Amino acid sequence: MNIVLMGPPGAGKGTQAERIAARYGIPHVSTGDMLREAVRSGTELGHRVEEILDKGDLVTDEVMKEVVKERLAKDDTRDGFILDGYPRTRRQVSHLEEILKDLGKSLTSMILVNASEQEVVERISNRRVCPKCGAVYNLISLKPENDELCDSCSVSLVQRSDDEAETVRMRYRLYMDKTAPVIEEFRREGKLFIVDGSESVDIVAEKIFEHLEKT
Ligand code: AMP
Repeated sequence: MNIVLMGPPGAGKGTQAERIAARYGIPHVSTGDMLREAVRSGTELGHRVEEILDKGDLVTDEVMKEVVKERLAKDDTRDGFILDGYPRTRRQVSHLEEILKDLGKSLTSMILVNASEQEVVERISNRRVCPKCGAVYNLISLKPENDELCDSCSVSLVQRSDDEAETVRMRYRLYMDKTAPVIEEFRREGKLFIVDGSESVDIVAEKIFEHLEKT
């Protein structure tokens, strides 16, 4: 099962990807998580992308190609993967085709988790993450058991540095400029399964599972 999950920042892609990964035992390959981890651990890649991430800008297509190629070549993707946050530009779409071809793989499903700008801004402003394990919460729709503490680590949750209002607007603008046209093309070609991300996490997950079981 080789899945691509698309959608605006804050639509709930990451949460859904985690659910799919747990249900089917395939890795959740989030390019955003990989880049943030590189920044946290101070790797060469991390140094190169830190400022870009902080500004909410996009990392170059060439760098992303290397990151994704290396990740999808790993053995744990043998039975499938769920790719979250990639591709985001037209060039990344062709890069992904090349990468998959080289690895002898192909996509089985492309899913769009849709959400309006208003929904996205509200979701992101309520998003909190655990600085220790990376678990993602939402103070309205996916609350931690104890006020702003991680359920597993009991560490105080924080806001992602790129989740501040101005950066969110920039990320949304980039999504509309660069990613939405690509998504529109997939939609026109009938390749996309579209789910309304404004519904509850459980309902969205149920619809995605139903779709995956059919394909
Ligand atoms: P995300 O968690 O998917 O919202 O990604 C966080 C940040 O990582 C983005 O705002 C970009 O700076 C960078 N990033 C993640 N995926 C990509 C991608 N496919 N292309 C370019 N930049 C990316």
